[in-house]
Amino acid sequence: MKKFLLIGFGMIFTACVLGIGAWAIGDRMAAAAIEQEWQTTQVEKIHALGATRTFEILPLFEEAKARNDLELEHGVSYLIKTDELNILLDVGMTPARLSRNMQALNVSEKDFDVVVITHPHPDHMGGTAAWWSNRLAAGDPPLDLTGKRVLVPMALNNAEIAQSVLEQPTKIAKGVATLGTIAFPELFPLSLRGARNVEQALAVNVKDKGIVLITGCGHPTVERIVTRAGAIFDEPIIGIVGGLHYEGFSREQTQPHIAFIAALDPQLVAVSPHDSSPAALEAFREAFPGAYREIRVGEQIRLDEPIAARPR
Ligand SMILES: [Zn+2]
Ligand SMILES: [Zn+2]
Repeated sequence: MKKFLLIGFGMIFTACVLGIGAWAIGDRMAAAAIEQEWQTTQVEKIHALGATRTFEILPLFEEAKARNDLELEHGVSYLIKTDELNILLDVGMTPARLSRNMQALNVSEKDFDVVVITHPHPDHMGGTAAWWSNRLAAGDPPLDLTGKRVLVPMALNNAEIAQSVLEQPTKIAKGVATLGTIAFPELFPLSLRGARNVEQALAVNVKDKGIVLITGCGHPTVERIVTRAGAIFDEPIIGIVGGLHYEGFSREQTQPHIAFIAALDPQLVAVSPHDSSPAALEAFREAFPGAYREIRVGEQIRLDEPIAARPR
């Protein structure tokens, strides 16, 4: 009896080791394929992007907040206003929390024309259950997205929404474009479901200034996002707003990335607190004293107001 038990445990142990080994090898192969994909992907240039005079970003969901009557949580949702089009970029984590913040900020479906989802992660598409079912969960009660375009990096299971999968860079309004999808190795434990994921970022060309890039989590890295934008547009890149994924980074570890962004001579730098460490955020604040802005629910980010780092 004891012998059979030992053999049984031995078999289970071996199966576990083989399973983990196969999964790790699969992940490594996927990472190599993603690298190859980055090296070989060709994107088409957008020559007539145009420019917008209006440019405002109002964070609706973030891990920091500007007022007591608002709520914070790990995740991202920004309302972006431009001349022709207002955009809801991502829908945060807990749908009811997005709805409460929208109500407190007097924002409704009337305030945006298009929804852009940067990537299918729980904190950008409405929670873990939404991620698990590959469905967008925007607000609770759900936002009425009738008649609105939903621009996604990969197809979602929501039959009720008018979704477009934008793999290539696409102009969506005067001065506004998506960068197309960039693949990245999925994070553990989300990678148990698939080793490859994709993210898209938004570009807004502000009249007489240049292009501001707006990211969700920034998983493909800021270097690749900026390089992709440089390959698409003729206009200079003058700003970056959103998640850059410096999770657990020390000040020293952020320095090469800060140097890369500094080479753009940016007029606007705002790093999301939802996926970067306090040390990384501090390093960015110090590196860009004239251009840095906090990202907090309820606090507008603009280019035309006097630029100064504000106290936290
Ligand atoms: Zn993410
Ligand atoms: Zn995120």
